[in-house]
Amino acid sequence: MPFSCRIELNPLRLNSRYVRNLCIVGLQWGDEGKGKIVDYYADGFEAVVRYNGGSNAGHTIVINGRTFVFHLLPSGLLKKKKLLIGPGVALDPLTLREELDMVAKEGGEADLMVDERCTLVTTLEKEMDSFIEGLRGANAIGTTKRGIGPSYAMRALRLTPRAGDLVNGSFDMSSAIAFYGSFLKTIPDLTEWKDRSREVLAGKMGDVGGKVMELNEAGHSVMFEGAQGTLLDLIFGTYPYVTGAHTIASYVPAGLGIPNSALGDVMGVAKAYTTRVGGGPFPTEMTDETGEKIRKVGKEYGATTGRPRRVGWLDLVGLKYAVRLNGVSELALTKLDILTKVKEMKVCVGYSIDGSETGDFSRALPRLADARPVYQDMRSFFGLELRENQLPQVAEQLLEFLEDELKVKVTLVSTGEERSATMQRHA
Ligand code: GDP
Repeated sequence: MPFSCRIELNPLRLNSRYVRNLCIVGLQWGDEGKGKIVDYYADGFEAVVRYNGGSNAGHTIVINGRTFVFHLLPSGLLKKKKLLIGPGVALDPLTLREELDMVAKEGGEADLMVDERCTLVTTLEKEMDSFIEGLRGANAIGTTKRGIGPSYAMRALRLTPRAGDLVNGSFDMSSAIAFYGSFLKTIPDLTEWKDRSREVLAGKMGDVGGKVMELNEAGHSVMFEGAQGTLLDLIFGTYPYVTGAHTIASYVPAGLGIPNSALGDVMGVAKAYTTRVGGGPFPTEMTDETGEKIRKVGKEYGATTGRPRRVGWLDLVGLKYAVRLNGVSELALTKLDILTKVKEMKVCVGYSIDGSETGDFSRALPRLADARPVYQDMRSFFGLELRENQLPQVAEQLLEFLEDELKVKVTLVSTGEERSATMQRHA
């Protein structure tokens, strides 16, 4: 069998071969540590594919003390995998250029294909991002101002070129320019942007969905790397405080143009606590010293913007919703080590809204700003040593509690930034 990953997965049968694709998806508001998990499992896969979002993502991998942050390149890069950027991605060619330059500087090379249908992010969409955040004033969403939401909006308006259009020189941008002229004082000249972008994309264009199917038919497994998190999904997240893209696993088939049956298994990634960047409701948010401590030791500052992340206790109401939405079959729990630095340990098991309790995130969504968390106190991890391949009983108890509540197995536990600080359970 071509699959060398150690997790238990249900095989997908294709052309009489067993091929097991795997989607790695964030279950909270992003920054769950997906990059590390993708890197950890990448060995068993022929290709790693980005299927959503854009350079507003920031996936961090730490190896022997060196930190690598990728905004667009899939996190399979360090394992020298085939890298595919699918049509559902909003692509900023200049950010891609920076990442490819960084790889070249390190003496590496990216085996990269970019789908010709990718929506492009031009300088104009970044301007629009700042302009719209300005209009929102006190209700600002806190976007990364990378132009991702506006580029998806311009796609829906059929005003922005796709990657292939730019390379083939076949897209007339006069309507887009006229549209921007209606609200921007000055319109940046795109000539240099076009030349540089064409240069980056030339020779990399292809049909990513077709490539995935070709690899599967040849018996290879493919990993799909999600960006952001479930609760930031454009439709199912905490709207309007969401990202401009679909973040859930069912966007893998739609965003890549592959059949649902090729999605394979879904590994959800969650932190052992919760974080959120930008505005929006956050029922378990901590504004006390414990929250501050977690932010500091957990280095909870955005990989893309450097902004401090808001910090809260683990929220099982949100997690149950995310497990259901994504069809999660395996769970990876990250940052357990951070909880060894704080004396308390709580998990939110329900919300109280106007005196009534609910455990249903979907029903609570319209009133999330008024939801008070109902906590279950857990045994503290304070001072515990998390050694390789040996979890203390207290930690095991938490994992078993989560498995009971969420009805999925916690297959992987991450106890540090380093690739080596990763423990496999149920292997
Ligand atoms: P992603 O966007 O989901 O890939 O997450 P980010 O890269 O934005 O944030 C995760 C951060 O947590 C990165 O700096 C990782 O190096 C770090 N990280 C991942 N897992 C662990 C862990 O188990 N413990 C600690 N201390 N850091 C971790």
